[in-house]
Amino acid sequence: MSRRAGAILVLVILGAAGTLAWRHRRMRRPAPAPLAVAAVLAEAAAHPERPQAADPLLEGLRSELRLHRQLLVLFADEAGMQGSRREAALAVGHRLHHEERDLTHQLNGELTRLAATPSPQRAPVILALLAWMDTDPDLLEPDRLAFRDPLRVLKRALAHDASPEGADLRTRLAAHLAEVDRVEAWVEAEYRQARGGRRPRWEAYLAELQRRIPLDQLLGAPGIPAPSPGAAEGEISGAAFPEKVLVLSFDDGPHWIYTEEIKALLQTEKVPALFFEVGRNLGTVDASGQARLGPMAAFTEDLVKAGFVVGNHSYTHAQLSKETGAPLDLEIRETDQLLQAIPGAHSHLFRFPYGARTPVQMAALQPYHLRSVLWTIDSLDWADPVPSSVADRVLKAVAREKRGILLFHDIHDRAGKVLPMILPKLRAEGYVFAGLNREGRLVLP
Ligand SMILES: [Zn+2]
Repeated sequence: MSRRAGAILVLVILGAAGTLAWRHRRMRRPAPAPLAVAAVLAEAAAHPERPQAADPLLEGLRSELRLHRQLLVLFADEAGMQGSRREAALAVGHRLHHEERDLTHQLNGELTRLAATPSPQRAPVILALLAWMDTDPDLLEPDRLAFRDPLRVLKRALAHDASPEGADLRTRLAAHLAEVDRVEAWVEAEYRQARGGRRPRWEAYLAELQRRIPLDQLLGAPGIPAPSPGAAEGEISGAAFPEKVLVLSFDDGPHWIYTEEIKALLQTEKVPALFFEVGRNLGTVDASGQARLGPMAAFTEDLVKAGFVVGNHSYTHAQLSKETGAPLDLEIRETDQLLQAIPGAHSHLFRFPYGARTPVQMAALQPYHLRSVLWTIDSLDWADPVPSSVADRVLKAVAREKRGILLFHDIHDRAGKVLPMILPKLRAEGYVFAGLNREGRLVLP
């Protein structure tokens, strides 16, 4: 490897190692710790053959898989979970999803940068990740569902690479994605055939995960408590909507791939929707208070151009009920500033992550003239990898509530698969899809 290529590779590794370690720290930026570049360069020089280039990324993928599996174990017996046990599962699930969200955000950034690096080590590193998915004896076939997002992000990042190597990598990524599709197809087919009955293949998978990950141990881990029920004064809650009126909402984006896909789907269906954005996805605010938009802000701008309403979902997706004073204010203000910097994106809508708030946090919205927007029906699309199962959960809840705000996420592929399943059915039952304007007033179609 040339010295230049080696240096680039080391920087890629450093970036991955640095940011993946960063997630373990508290999500209160801004100044990242200085990296010991010289030490790592010396280390790399001492081991020029160093074959572990993919390690930090591999560690990230392993962590994603661990969280994916833990969520599956947590909700494996969703139908049988009642009362406090269900609340505990939701609280732990929210914490796992919180970790997963941080990890995915960083891993997607690293994979995108890796795909763009001119280093000759780019292909070997990507191929090492793919080889791991095929050969690690610890992996189970349905685990592949956990790898759709990183595979798609890599493939997208290589989409405009005209080199033969880029084309070869795209072909290999497409083959891996086809494997993910194959697994999802049998999982879906088995779910639909069972109609609430036995699903031998999926149950065997869950049983193996339960053997490896004891549920009681998971439930004993710290969680993020479920939102306090009921809307406070001034909050917007779909519970007060007229009967048969629904509003769709998508949280935690924008995302490199799924935001655009969901936007296109909603446009085709002529359905309005709200998107609650996490500020750090949009960019940063520097010490002088200047908003600096990153590449993903373009997705938000596209949403607004297409007529969708965008709201503030905090800067780091923190559990704001634990925050007060300046840190709380920063979480709200920085996303407000970033949305102001995107033409037409600013609104008066705010959604507390996890709905976690007390009167202290409600008061913190006032200087920014923001209104809290809750939801009525949680699709749990973040905890359930089976689109038909998510669709059934939503349809059941709508039948019970008869109105309200539906909560989905545009950071996974699920919402884009679930919408075509539920929209025609709900329309056939006489439901209408309304929107909220930027002040939070219901706008009927
Ligand atoms: Zn969220």
